[in-house]
Amino acid sequence: MGKRDPQTNKFKTIWTADVDPSSREVNPADLTHTDVVDVIQENGPAAEKVDIVILGDGYTKAEMGKFKNDAKRLSAVLMAQEPFKSKSKDINIRAIETPSEVSGVCKPHPGVFKRTPLSVQYGAFDSERYALTYDNKTVRNVASQVPYDFMVILVNERTYGGGGIYNLYTTVSSDNKFADYIMVHELGHHMAGLADEYYSSAVAYEAPDIKLEPWETNITAMPDKNKLKWKDLVDPSTPLPTPWNKEAFDKFGNDIQQQRKKLREEKVPEEVMEALFMKQYKQEDEYFSKEKYKDAVGAFEGAGYTPKGLYRSQLDCIMYTRHIHFCKVCQRSLISVIEQYTATGK
Ligand SMILES: [Zn+2]
Repeated sequence: MGKRDPQTNKFKTIWTADVDPSSREVNPADLTHTDVVDVIQENGPAAEKVDIVILGDGYTKAEMGKFKNDAKRLSAVLMAQEPFKSKSKDINIRAIETPSEVSGVCKPHPGVFKRTPLSVQYGAFDSERYALTYDNKTVRNVASQVPYDFMVILVNERTYGGGGIYNLYTTVSSDNKFADYIMVHELGHHMAGLADEYYSSAVAYEAPDIKLEPWETNITAMPDKNKLKWKDLVDPSTPLPTPWNKEAFDKFGNDIQQQRKKLREEKVPEEVMEALFMKQYKQEDEYFSKEKYKDAVGAFEGAGYTPKGLYRSQLDCIMYTRHIHFCKVCQRSLISVIEQYTATGK
């Protein structure tokens, strides 16, 4: 187990343990699996492909058809986006059914308490939209029915929420109007450790110390053309840092954040929140359409929860706004992860 040194940004070991699979403390008996598996797409042996397992929480027995449809729908959304689109023949996706006694999951902020098979709940680290499960053992036992490298847990809720943790899992509220965005964005965190490129919404994390270059591949504190980590993708005619109309964009973004906070406090129906996000989405489109460097790779200030001193590579990316498209740097990072798991990448 490692932790980053705050001075050097390098990992240092804080804890180690030996695991001996032949120890009598390790139970080698097979786990009997009885859950139904739905194959969404299968393109070859697990050893040569990226294998994604989809689990579901808060779906009742009567809602298993819905779970299957949600899994198919959101898989199709993922496979329609680059780089997954070009790599779709390298990806297997299987879903496992775990019916729940109740529909929906635990949401402590509005006072909705439930128990579900995978124990996903909103409100992780007290962030209302952050849906996670801490019951890792149950989740791993369920998932072990199929081979998998990455995991998506669909949450049978309309309330906006989800989460993506590097090499752990992704969660998605499957009925939200922005479920497609949540699915793709959170998988970016989960699969490639991509950083959030946004910097104005409230999050459960502290902003990084920008004296150091972030380890994530898609944000930087060094926009200098000789040091920039994606310098090979930058056209010589693009200035660094790259100018954009940040002031107007931030002012609008901050207004939206204030309204969002107020609406959550007022516990308005989810469609009211979705309408606010739609308004934001359309206004962002309008701002972006006027930008000189809207398609360029450069260094745009504002990234990683930090409005000043951290930079992202393109004006827009799904790690920044809810527009479903990865920037070129994020695409490249995802490709390198996919190729670690596939025969074509060897
Ligand atoms: Zn990006």
